[in-house]
Amino acid sequence: MSDCIFCKIVGGDIPSAKVYEDDYVYAFNDIDPQAPVHIVLVPKKHYDNIKDLDDDRIKISIFNAIQKIALDQKLDAGFRVVCNTGEQGGQTVEHLHFHILSGRNLQWPPG
Ligand code: 5GP
Ligand code: ZN
Repeated sequence: MSDCIFCKIVGGDIPSAKVYEDDYVYAFNDIDPQAPVHIVLVPKKHYDNIKDLDDDRIKISIFNAIQKIALDQKLDAGFRVVCNTGEQGGQTVEHLHFHILSGRNLQWPPG
């Protein structure tokens, strides 16, 4: 998708601070962090949201990446994975992504 911010980040057209990468996913630091650790994990291929994700290899890579990031970043005190979806879900970038938040006490339920 030529006008998608996250496609541009994956393609290197917009710079980002890489945290993790494999054949199917890319993770980078959020530009507007909501916690001391705030990583965004995206599939390299564009999907608008999780409802469209039809490739089991990408599904596996997403979970694998979350686990690897949690271990590599030593998120031992805890972390949260968030997938904002759609208007009511608070999604602002229409490229499927997962927030990994850590480094402070996270409130529940979210606002
Ligand atoms: P959403 O609100 O869609 O769940 O999350 C989108 C996230 O992407 C936000 O946390 C926002 O700060 C982040 N973001 C938007 N544009 C950029 C960018 O150009 N670079 C980076 N690193 N993060 C971005
Ligand atoms: Zn995209």
